[in-house]
Amino acid sequence: MSEKSKQIEGRTGPWEIVLGLEVHAQVASNAKLFSGAAVGAGASPNSQVSLVDAAMPGMLPVINRHCVEQAVKTGLGLKAQINLKSHFDRKNYFYPDLPQGYQISQFKHPIVGEGEVIVEHDDGSTFTVRIERLHLEQDAGKSLHDQDPNATYVDLNRAGTALMEIVSMPDMRTSEEAAAYVKKLRTILVYLGTCDGDMEKGNLRADVNVSVCRPGDYEKFRETGSFSHLGTRCEIKNVNSYRYIQQAIEYEARRQIEILEDGGKIDQETRLFDPTKGETRSMRSKEEAHDYRYFPDPDLLPLELDPAWVKRIEATLPELPDAKKGRFQSQYGLSAYDAQVLISERARADYYEAAAKGRDAKLTANWVTNDLAARLTAGGIEIEASPIFPDAIAELVQLIEENVISSKIAKDVFERMWNGEGRASEIVEKQGLKQVSDTGELEAIIDKLIAENPGQAEQVKEKPQAIGWFVGQVMKATGGKANPGVINQLLKSKLGAD
Ligand code: ADP
Ligand code: MG
Repeated sequence: MSEKSKQIEGRTGPWEIVLGLEVHAQVASNAKLFSGAAVGAGASPNSQVSLVDAAMPGMLPVINRHCVEQAVKTGLGLKAQINLKSHFDRKNYFYPDLPQGYQISQFKHPIVGEGEVIVEHDDGSTFTVRIERLHLEQDAGKSLHDQDPNATYVDLNRAGTALMEIVSMPDMRTSEEAAAYVKKLRTILVYLGTCDGDMEKGNLRADVNVSVCRPGDYEKFRETGSFSHLGTRCEIKNVNSYRYIQQAIEYEARRQIEILEDGGKIDQETRLFDPTKGETRSMRSKEEAHDYRYFPDPDLLPLELDPAWVKRIEATLPELPDAKKGRFQSQYGLSAYDAQVLISERARADYYEAAAKGRDAKLTANWVTNDLAARLTAGGIEIEASPIFPDAIAELVQLIEENVISSKIAKDVFERMWNGEGRASEIVEKQGLKQVSDTGELEAIIDKLIAENPGQAEQVKEKPQAIGWFVGQVMKATGGKANPGVINQLLKSKLGAD
């Protein structure tokens, strides 16, 4: 990315944005972090609450081994340091949906330390976001304000659910980069199976920290590591879509620039994004910020991991997106772009590999990423639920490869496949769509065309491109079924355009 495109022109000169994200990812787990209560959306209110989650007196938390394993797996997937010893702390604050009066979190000693994520720009170039830490913590319950005009109800189903908070360094410089980072992080988590990545349900959401500075300041921060070179940040809480992340950043950066250009200063505060107005507004300032009085939770032992256990988890890691992308390029000869599109969803990559077996890899990639993807998107269907199976796409590709049908006819066959009319070869047979490569049949059509259009034929001698008109006419006469290679060859020899 060019230096210029990072800059925002203000009245007093150019500015740059600096962004650091805290992503909350719900751990994929059947049970909560410290209780055996079930996890999952859709259950009736307060039906998934154990005595521990309701904070009944005398209840003791017991750590869920699976959640720890998921955090370790995620740490390994982020190429991060796994801390063999970590602690749980109490983060104290009062809120109606927090019955304990504190959240169990990890403050000083998180389970995962520094790592990194390599992120793709739209144009295929990459940048690196450093991960500062990942820690485990409990989610809170939910206040329901829309059930009664005079009362607020509380649903504790979510209380105690395991979250991974993944904290990045302030390494993103544009709203696109922030969205691309969350997208990549989500892909990695879904590959690992440690979070379902469902942003609509709030299972993956981001706190976005935004500050602005003058050109050159960020470079000084990177050279020295000192945050004093950066502007004061504001934190926008709980943004749960790529679009909102971008809108919130754009708005917030402009707001800060205006304040600074008017001679004001930025208050470090927590803000909320209002998607209907497209604005951020203040939630609480640093002065009113909580004093959480963190201290180690006396009900929980320090978490100590056996290095051999960590090694065993490492051995179960699936092929991750970056590795898969490299392999798709070398094994299938795909462009970086095609490989990226295919690996961005694990299910799409699996579909592709199943379809491409023994087939033209590039052609198969085109069908999966263009026609099929367009149909699936339009229907709001996940590729796992595609009505056309990988082997059916392979069959279609084979018919094109073997010149049984033209690419143009293949589009029609594909539409019929989508509409459930059968497999590609059946459709071709039933509809009589086989490509006409029979030179005799095509020659007769061409001879007739030349005889009837002597003027056009003359033109081709001077302007070889004029041959296109004839190709079009032959296609028309054969209902699009003529083999374009054969027509071109015949036309060239008959019209002397070689
Ligand atoms: P807090 O608990 O106050 O939210 P954290 O250390 O948990 O602090 O997270 C701070 C987040 O803010 C990190 O993602 C970090 O990269 C980011 N951040 C820190 N300073 C800046 C800054 N000047 N501009 C933008 N983001 C920043
Ligand atoms: Mg934080």
